[in-house]
Amino acid sequence: MERESLEMDVVFVGAGPANLSGALHLTRLVNEHNKAVAKGSREGKPLGEIQIAVIEKGATVGGHILSGAVMDPRGLAELIPDFVAAGAPLESPVKEDHFLYLTSKRAIRSPITPPPLMNHGYYIVSLNRLTAWLGEKCEEAGVNIFPEFPGAEMLYDREDRVLGVRTGDKGIDKEGKQKANFEPGVDLLAKITVLGEGVRGSLTKKLVARLGLDEGREPQVYSLGVKELWELPDDRYPAGRVTHTLGFPSDQWTYGGGWIYGMQNRIVNLGYVTGLDYRDPLIDPHAEFQRFKSHPFLAKLLKGGKMIRYGAKAIAAGGWHAMPRLYGDGVLIVGDSAGFLNAARLKGIHSAIKSGMLAAETIFEALVAGDFSAGRLRSFESRVKESWITPELRRYRNFHAAFSRGRWLGMANAGLQYLSGGRAWGIFDRVHQEPGHEVMRKLSTYGYRGDDATQRYRDLKFDGQLTFNKVTDVYHAAVAHDEDQPAHLHVLDTNICSTRCAEEYGNPCQRFCPAAVYEMAEMSEPPAVAGGQAPRRQLQINFSNCVHCKTCDIMDPYQIINWVTPEGGGGPDYKGM
Ligand code: SF4
Repeated sequence: MERESLEMDVVFVGAGPANLSGALHLTRLVNEHNKAVAKGSREGKPLGEIQIAVIEKGATVGGHILSGAVMDPRGLAELIPDFVAAGAPLESPVKEDHFLYLTSKRAIRSPITPPPLMNHGYYIVSLNRLTAWLGEKCEEAGVNIFPEFPGAEMLYDREDRVLGVRTGDKGIDKEGKQKANFEPGVDLLAKITVLGEGVRGSLTKKLVARLGLDEGREPQVYSLGVKELWELPDDRYPAGRVTHTLGFPSDQWTYGGGWIYGMQNRIVNLGYVTGLDYRDPLIDPHAEFQRFKSHPFLAKLLKGGKMIRYGAKAIAAGGWHAMPRLYGDGVLIVGDSAGFLNAARLKGIHSAIKSGMLAAETIFEALVAGDFSAGRLRSFESRVKESWITPELRRYRNFHAAFSRGRWLGMANAGLQYLSGGRAWGIFDRVHQEPGHEVMRKLSTYGYRGDDATQRYRDLKFDGQLTFNKVTDVYHAAVAHDEDQPAHLHVLDTNICSTRCAEEYGNPCQRFCPAAVYEMAEMSEPPAVAGGQAPRRQLQINFSNCVHCKTCDIMDPYQIINWVTPEGGGGPDYKGM
């Protein structure tokens, strides 16, 4: 197949906060350099016009971006010092911080807010809106942004140097044949490719494995945040109020917690995080969130309100020890793709922005030197180490791992770490992070009979007012995929689903997916199997529901699910989220 090739200088894959900040900062550095050289105030040659492209799989910039979010403005203030006057879309400054411990019936207010969750001076934001605004700033500065262009494959030379990225083909039908509107993807050749695809980026995953960028690091661990926006009938939860919760509904072996943030116009933004290193195979993070809302404190808060939006997204929670090497020949990794999130503070926007800026400074230096080798680009890591990102992440470097010893010991460790600057103590000293899918136990460990999830969620009813099933929630994520395309969820061996996985784990994909994509459907004609019992159900993939949260790629116990980019423009639309 003939493909068009386009030569760029720098290609950023993914229009999230890290990459947009990087593209904007790089444009300014190049312009300043060219002007200074022309004026004679700087030695060297002008760089001329540098071609910078940002490609994005979503239909709009920000369409696939979802976060809590309370933003520490430190990163944005460095990128755009007058961001408030410049019209950054901020919902509200944080005015109140609350921290609650929830038992099944009561909400106990903590007299102190844990220091990592103190948010004074920060802002509640819709990250979707903030990202769209950063996209506008980039376009004003001359950056080319291409929505509906997913990065489908990395391009390498024989020495594994990254040459750029191939975008996804358009117009392939579900049988894999070309439709009338077929357009082959384009090879975007670049001196440097920057991967800022978000958590568990599909290209980043392959790049890290191919170049061994995770050698000597702890495995990355993840959580899943499930979120709704509600419109309340009155001002009972003012803009600027921030509440975090611990306890109900998570059991003590499941990392988790809730949030409630007050936005403008009587909107509350609430959600629940479940660690994707849970043990009980019947856990369903969407159901955990629905139970969270059924707590008397939440039920009272939401009474008379209306759920208006839904979304879900994985969070990289592994911290400092789990970050891969951030560079290779011709490539850098930034933002959530690299794991810059501080899980203890539930904050990553500021460090994503900063990582993009530091990548831009590294790229600028490489452009001036005409050297795009790993040896040159390794200075990105030095910049990260010398920046404020490193002391912040190192202070919480052993935060997540200790929760494998249960909630209370995890909390005790978090407190000790805060005081000691991140050192691991005593029994926490040798706790290593395990990949979440290896932590999940088999059904038999819990004495479950079959995969009936009601064994765990007996008390949960979806009433359509306070609590919603996945299909109703997905409707509020405004997900759209052309159904006549190959499924973008590649299950490498579906026989395992009907046999081993059904028996051992009860097909947990049906539960950990927050969008009802995976379904074990009764077979109309089960196959005849000599001397054994034939499987009765087979996997059905309702891929058009997918909200691109990446949980299945992370949590499948056999690691046979591979999330790849669907046709450009498909996916959720997280407007206002
Ligand atoms: Fe998330 Fe996978 Fe479900 Fe899509 S199919 S919503 S990526 S768990």
